[in-house]
Amino acid sequence: MSLMLSGIGVSRGIAIGKAHFMRNSIEVLQSAIPAHLLESEIARFLAAVDAARSQLEAIRERVPVETSIDITSFIDTHLLMLGDATLISTPVELIREHGCNAEWALKLQRDAVISVFEKMDDPYLRTRSDDVDHVVNRILRILLDRDQNGHDLKDEHLANAIVLADDLTPAETVLLKHQGMTAFATGFGGPLSHTAILSRSMQIPAVVGAHGIQQYLRDGETLILDGLQGIVIADPDEQTLTHYRKRQQDERRRRQELARLANRPAITLDRFPIRLMANIELPEDVEAVGMSRIDGVGLYRTEFLFMNRTAPPDEQEQFDCYLAVLDALQGKPLTIRTLDMGADKQVDSGKGRCGSNPALGLRAVRLCLKDLSLFRPQLRAIMRTSAHGPVRMMIPMLTNTQELHQVLSLINETRNALQREGMAFAPDISIGGMIEVPGAALSAREFARHLDFLSIGTNDLIQYTLAIDRVDDEVNYLYDPLHPAVLRLIKMTIDAGLEAGIPVAMCGEMAGDPRYTRLLLGMGLTEFSMHHTSLQEVKSVINNSHIATLRPLVEELVNHTNAGQIHARIESLNSNLTE
Ligand code: PEP
Ligand code: MG
Repeated sequence: MSLMLSGIGVSRGIAIGKAHFMRNSIEVLQSAIPAHLLESEIARFLAAVDAARSQLEAIRERVPVETSIDITSFIDTHLLMLGDATLISTPVELIREHGCNAEWALKLQRDAVISVFEKMDDPYLRTRSDDVDHVVNRILRILLDRDQNGHDLKDEHLANAIVLADDLTPAETVLLKHQGMTAFATGFGGPLSHTAILSRSMQIPAVVGAHGIQQYLRDGETLILDGLQGIVIADPDEQTLTHYRKRQQDERRRRQELARLANRPAITLDRFPIRLMANIELPEDVEAVGMSRIDGVGLYRTEFLFMNRTAPPDEQEQFDCYLAVLDALQGKPLTIRTLDMGADKQVDSGKGRCGSNPALGLRAVRLCLKDLSLFRPQLRAIMRTSAHGPVRMMIPMLTNTQELHQVLSLINETRNALQREGMAFAPDISIGGMIEVPGAALSAREFARHLDFLSIGTNDLIQYTLAIDRVDDEVNYLYDPLHPAVLRLIKMTIDAGLEAGIPVAMCGEMAGDPRYTRLLLGMGLTEFSMHHTSLQEVKSVINNSHIATLRPLVEELVNHTNAGQIHARIESLNSNLTE
């Protein structure tokens, strides 16, 4: 009898394949090694470490160029751990000392390291214990010469497999894809996790937060996974299979058609032009995006320039970097967001670490205003870049207008200083604010009076409105861009911009999700900024939509307080879109 489990669809696509379980814990048994075999046991351990390193290096090579730096730096962290004495030399000593097998020595050391991490108050350091686990498991799997389910690690094993796991790391996702995985479903995780973002950029159909997969699904049974609807169907009957095979074909056709859209403008059926922009993290990202396909960069997350180093980049390094991005954009606008550091985005220099509640602590503009040695060089570098082309400056996480006035007066000081020094800059550089704190959305009118544009950061706006930590698996089930409160805050922000006659953009993940494109068009949004892999899908919805028809429908929808009715109305809004 078939069974359906639901979760959060994070990467669109239909997959039909065999269930393949990845179990997260590996059982390790202790065995005694005779003294004369200890050296060869140590050699076996060191060979496994080398093999783990080669695996990770191979994974790093396969990460698509457009993947964000935090995913590659995650792999780098694991590579560094493989060279770390605590994790590698101590097990060697333990093998000698206890006369035990390599697996047991590694497990002892893992337990010791993790217990130290878990006692730490700093949430960032606590998350490092997951990294230790991942690295140790990789070595253990090699030592045991098995994958986590007891199967041999052979490439063909995963051909056509739908991988099921409690959770997957980005590195595992890349490796599994290479081994033939066709889709995956995890019991935990949310749509904003790095693994979810990676699944979208690698176009792997994926469902996360599907509780009960370990309990209800069986290894080897036939599954259908629908990454759009967020469902997994086990043991489907012939009729269901035929239905989904047809949907797979439709999906293939749809992708071919999307590719044809690449160089066409985004314009609605009633001729409203819409600006489609890209979100980037690194200068190299511009190349991956492909200039002809976008109207500019709507969000350049500069914090990535500050990561994996001991000291922040100085003004000149920042200027050189921003100028390189601007040049690559060939005259299209570049929106440089000032540093958004803190909370889940930590840097190695230690700045931005904060108290027991980091998402509500000293992050983004709060941190910049507290540490002007960090903020001033960036303001100067952005202003100087503005002399060379269309640069917009965007301030993240504004909470109240006092904060905004502080920023504006610092920008004025910077202008005066640059002028005195005879440095070139655009005096009328466009200054915008991100609306991602509910309080700021509620006072969007005030912000709009003092700014040249607004950009809605839905990732944080949803996190703060619904009080759900965006990196916490346990509460991800509450993540809902269609929550009536979220919709009202978005609408208020768009209306405030329209009233003040300034553009309003959206640069959170919601902007790149085609399920919400019509809703946002109907609300009056005219600028969407997203990961470049979503551009054509969103454009295809825009080019098939009629704003005048959407407006009254959306007006009515936004006034609903019942989440179920809102979801149903979204479906009917999207009903004539080809899936
Ligand atoms: C957001 O919060 O929606 C956003 C775009 O910023 P980030 O994801 O970098 O916090
Ligand atoms: Mg944000």
